[in-house]
Amino acid sequence: MPFDLDRVRQDTPGCWDKVFLDSAGSSLPPTVVVDAAVSHLRREAEVGGYRAANERLADLAAVKSSIGTLINAPASSIALSDSATRSWTDFFYAVPLGPGDRILISEVEYASNGIAALQRAARAGARVETIPSDSSGQVDLEALDRMLDDRVAIVSLVHAPTNGGLLNPVREVSDLAHRVGALVLLDACQSVGQVVVDVAELQVDALSVTGRKWLRGPRGTGFLYIDPALDLAPATLDLHSAQWSTETEFRVADDASRFEFWECDVAARLALGAAVDYLLDIGQATVRTEIADRATYLRDALQSVPNATVRDLGTLQSGIVSFTVDGVEPTDVRDRLATADITVTVSHRSSTLLDMSHRGLQAVVRASPHYFVSYPELDRFVDAISAL
Ligand SMILES: *Cc1c(COP(=O)(O)O)cnc(C)c1O
Repeated sequence: MPFDLDRVRQDTPGCWDKVFLDSAGSSLPPTVVVDAAVSHLRREAEVGGYRAANERLADLAAVKSSIGTLINAPASSIALSDSATRSWTDFFYAVPLGPGDRILISEVEYASNGIAALQRAARAGARVETIPSDSSGQVDLEALDRMLDDRVAIVSLVHAPTNGGLLNPVREVSDLAHRVGALVLLDACQSVGQVVVDVAELQVDALSVTGRKWLRGPRGTGFLYIDPALDLAPATLDLHSAQWSTETEFRVADDASRFEFWECDVAARLALGAAVDYLLDIGQATVRTEIADRATYLRDALQSVPNATVRDLGTLQSGIVSFTVDGVEPTDVRDRLATADITVTVSHRSSTLLDMSHRGLQAVVRASPHYFVSYPELDRFVDAISAL
């Protein structure tokens, strides 16, 4: 099906009066997503949350099926959560770790992951080590190969970093890590929803995603995929993730729901399902192409603005365009664009400490166009940068 820009813009009232370039931060949800959440909240107010949820059991189960279709995984391998970080840490804190074990992280590691790795390493007597990047900026596979041994418990890889357009190779990392029995945890927070992510192809052991970014879902949603072959017990359990079977025993759920708690925002989950269905309806390959074309167009255009420097790394790139403007602080760029109804964000050094320190950057401006952004809007943005 050809891409219908008019239709997706019609479905996205938030884009009618502004140039919205922050889908890597918190995107504009389509109307069906908002309606799914609001109508369920209304129903809860009418009949109470339990009955309202019971009326939607099939739809709630379908949320996981839709996510399964999205990443090519069985619904039973999906655990819904309230953020990508929740999902990432739920898995990470479940991986056994002892003295002398090693945790490998990528140079573009997201701060929350890095902090969790340091905390666990300190508690367990383990070590955190950074896999260097190669000259293109992507994870250095040869260096990784040299670093791996049987003390490596887990390799954390960020698919698409928060601070730029890099896309890391995943399958190659999985293959290398699995040779020494290490687990691969993929932070797919910035990739699912904009690039095709197929867990059967990528062979990762687990993957974490948020709802509000490229998936265009509501805030406070996310999910974890965990390889069904893995027998890992979560660090925390409740009466949904486990069953109290006798006075002295409990049984942990055998599917990915062992990584969920019972209580949840049902309206938000239904809305997340609507967002995934909306994406599947447009088609993942179409979405990937439309976003990549816009990002390439922006990078090319910014390259011809004399005072602007594009900061994106990598040979394969995502829809995130990072740049700086000579003589104008990134936060000032953001604020001045905001007065012209152009929304971008700033990614600070503290979010991706290793990479930004390595490159001597304090902050970059981040423009992340989704498929609903029109080309005339991209031109307006570039003109505004030129005029700074
Ligand atoms: C935004 C982001 C996260 C965190 O997502 P939350 O839903 O806020 O927890 C993790 N990793 C990357 C690369 C991100 O950009």
